[in-house]
Amino acid sequence: LFLAFEGGDGAGKSTQLRLLHQALARGGAPVVITREPGGTDIGEKLRSLVLEHGHGQIDERTEALMYAAARAAHVNQFILPHLRSGTHVVTDRFVDSSLAYQGIGRGLGIEQVAAVNRFATDGLAPDLTILLDISAADGRARRVTAGGGVEDADRLEAEPDDFHERIRQGFLALAGTAPERYLVLDATTGAEQLHRQILNRVQAML
Ligand code: C5P
Repeated sequence: LFLAFEGGDGAGKSTQLRLLHQALARGGAPVVITREPGGTDIGEKLRSLVLEHGHGQIDERTEALMYAAARAAHVNQFILPHLRSGTHVVTDRFVDSSLAYQGIGRGLGIEQVAAVNRFATDGLAPDLTILLDISAADGRARRVTAGGGVEDADRLEAEPDDFHERIRQGFLALAGTAPERYLVLDATTGAEQLHRQILNRVQAML
């Protein structure tokens, strides 16, 4: 299985990814977790480049291509080899993040970003995408509460709420185009309950 977590900053993807990984591994399933941008040496370098330079120093098209390049490496060097050897892959973000952040957030348009990503991934799509839906205000509150870890320097905290709200609506619209391939959950639900909902759905697919 190829599973992706998507959602706005502060939605709690990393926590749910870790819980799902532990549960599947406990059940004896071969499973790896990974993240985007990142997941390979070249991908992690691109992650640092794109997140350190940030918006304003890198134009939108360059940024979209850097995410897509990191994703191509991720697919070819990490995700596909694992899937071919029968290992489940769970990723923190995939193409939908680019459609939402670069396509909608940065205004490049979903279609253009989708085209670049079809090339980058050669059409690979998750069997299931778990969308942790969170409002801009709740996401901001969570980012502040989580406060100040190294990872937080990587994040788009400076963006206004309306940017995050557009991203959110973008994710929901994407989920609406193929409801059978999405599990949309309210990210403000307690972590344990969210985990049970996710695990139930995933186990039904195994
Ligand atoms: O989820 P994570 O913290 O790894 O994401 C790092 C940052 O990169 C976040 O601020 C996220 O919004 C941003 N991002 C982006 N476009 C993507 C993927 C992530 O702007 N395609």
